[in-house]
Amino acid sequence: MRNVLIVGAGVAGPTLAYWLARAGFRPTVVERARGQRSSGNPVDVRGPALPVAEQMGVVPALREAATTVTAMRLIDSRGRRRQRLPMPAGRSPAGTAEIEVPRADLASILYAAARDHAEFVFDDTITGFTQDPAGVDVTFERSAPRRFDLVVGADGLHSAVRRLAFGPEATFVRHLGVYVATTPLGEPVDHPGEALMYNTPGRLISVHPSRDHALLAFIFRGPAIPGFDHRDVALHKRVLLHAYANDRNWLVPTYLERVRAAEDLYFDSVSKVVLPSWSNGRVTLLGDAAASVSLFGDGSSMAMAGALTLANALKNSGPATALKRYETEHRRRTDPKGRRARLAAAMIVPSTRPGIAVRNTAARLAYRR
Ligand SMILES: Cc1cc2nc3c(=O)[nH]c(=O)nc-3n(C[C@H](O)[C@H](O)[C@H](O)COP(=O)(O)OP(=O)(O)OC[C@H]3O[C@@H](n4cnc5c(N)ncnc54)[C@H](O)[C@@H]3O)c2cc1C
Repeated sequence: MRNVLIVGAGVAGPTLAYWLARAGFRPTVVERARGQRSSGNPVDVRGPALPVAEQMGVVPALREAATTVTAMRLIDSRGRRRQRLPMPAGRSPAGTAEIEVPRADLASILYAAARDHAEFVFDDTITGFTQDPAGVDVTFERSAPRRFDLVVGADGLHSAVRRLAFGPEATFVRHLGVYVATTPLGEPVDHPGEALMYNTPGRLISVHPSRDHALLAFIFRGPAIPGFDHRDVALHKRVLLHAYANDRNWLVPTYLERVRAAEDLYFDSVSKVVLPSWSNGRVTLLGDAAASVSLFGDGSSMAMAGALTLANALKNSGPATALKRYETEHRRRTDPKGRRARLAAAMIVPSTRPGIAVRNTAARLAYRR
């Protein structure tokens, strides 16, 4: 077994390509986007992902790209800068416990590590497959059909591989009652070391400084939208603007103007992916496609750790045993994250004013040096 198709060149895909190539496989990565997306909220590389990054030799590049944030600053309901919550020591850019890096930079750095060892095909996607006990015949939107020994869906929350292998998204993806939107602010801010957090009941706006600019994020509660289309930007802007429409405090009206004008808006439902099994024959899932709780579940770190676990399992056994071993081992990391998702939502976007006060007290205690 040598030829592996990986669908998706986000965080999980390039990491898996790198490790499979090191183990003697021939990985091909197909990515729907024409190139790497520029939008990127900050994500943390931590826990089991840090040794993965170290062994790939990408830690210096990650540190170079790391955000400059060492504290959070809470903004009150009248828009005044209030409490400053220093991050635990290891979280600082110089620290070792975790590295906070814009998502797009993380994906680019992992791609740079893998691109000389794997075939990357951009601007294409899988359209179907049929499998037999010895392999998988795959068709693509643009490329000619090809046969692979294994197919890995690393194509994120709205995975096409998952749909083709297991059925419609609605069966496996559960909206957690929260939406997230991010867009670059496009200019430097006067608080390069502090992420600003402005909460009102059920809503958060954060301004997160990065290297030479800042990232604006909106996280807010809202019911599932029937037929929600994660690519319908006009719908995303409508939903977001409506959610914050009555708030004239702080810089909210200015930030909403930025959203109206944004060309690079990331918007999605915060969702949990629940699948009884991650593999169907010689097709398996990795990263958010298998077990997302998005920003509430260390998605990037889980994607990287899962990639190494899968590569190691494939190196040591045949596909059936390897896929079972990968799932058993990696579910030990992802399942607890899924169970804690609602608590994480309550911490990030409390739905009441007393809830915000309790969260602020808890954060003060947790972030005390
Ligand atoms: C606001 C926000 C904050 C977050 N904060 C954190 C955090 O602090 N820490 C953390 O660890 N994680 C965080 N995450 C989650 C993290 O970004 C994801 O969980 C992580 O990127 C998952 O990696 P992935 O490779 O599985 O999926 P993605 O990074 O989503 O990559 C999937 C790739 O597949 C491609 N693709 C999609 N469909 C197809 C197709 N049909 N064919 C070919 N290619 C396709 C996409 O273009 C993309 O490149 C956050 C997420 C959000 C939204």
